[in-house]
Amino acid sequence: MRIALLGPPGAGKGTQAARICQTFHLIHFSSGDILRAEKMFGTSLGRRIRDFIDNGLLVPDDLMIQIMEQRVLAARDGFVLDGYPRTLPQSQALKRILQAADMPLDLVLNFVVDPKVLARRFEGRRICPVCLAVYHVDTMPSKIPGVCDHDSHELIIRQDDMPDVVRKRIETYQESMAPLFAYYAQQGDFKTIDASGSVDDVTRVVLDKIRRHFEAATAS
Ligand SMILES: [Zn+2]
Repeated sequence: MRIALLGPPGAGKGTQAARICQTFHLIHFSSGDILRAEKMFGTSLGRRIRDFIDNGLLVPDDLMIQIMEQRVLAARDGFVLDGYPRTLPQSQALKRILQAADMPLDLVLNFVVDPKVLARRFEGRRICPVCLAVYHVDTMPSKIPGVCDHDSHELIIRQDDMPDVVRKRIETYQESMAPLFAYYAQQGDFKTIDASGSVDDVTRVVLDKIRRHFEAATAS
């Protein structure tokens, strides 16, 4: 199974991707985590992408494609892409790369969220600067408010989650995704998921859609 998840920042793609991977034994590729890791390790690639990330801008296509290519090709037993592709050139490059390796994408799930619900998700998000655990004051609170469960460090609001950066990220997202939606809608195997509900409700819908899709594909 090779699945890509699309959706704005805060749509819960990361959580759902992790659950899909656990259920179907797939590798989870989160472009956000991969970029943050590159940035943190201070690789030459990391230094080049740092300014883009810190300012809520998209990392340029050529860098993004370079970062993701070897990773997806190594995942022969299947994967879930979360946050990638983000632009039409990235989708086209991905298609080319995967087709050449005879491992095409099976399914694209597009997460759609009510904008008011989305805003609230960001306001409450907290992260541990040490172990990178993510919390939410409403839906996934730490045991002691403001303190990491794992290492007792003080939780912070990630640079990416600051209101101005968030607004910029969502704007950038909407603008950049329009051609990509059209591209995938044309190719079938593109399903919309209403991701405004609770995490568990969305998981049920997502797993159900995936099972149905692969059952239908196997039957035909
Ligand atoms: Zn921690």
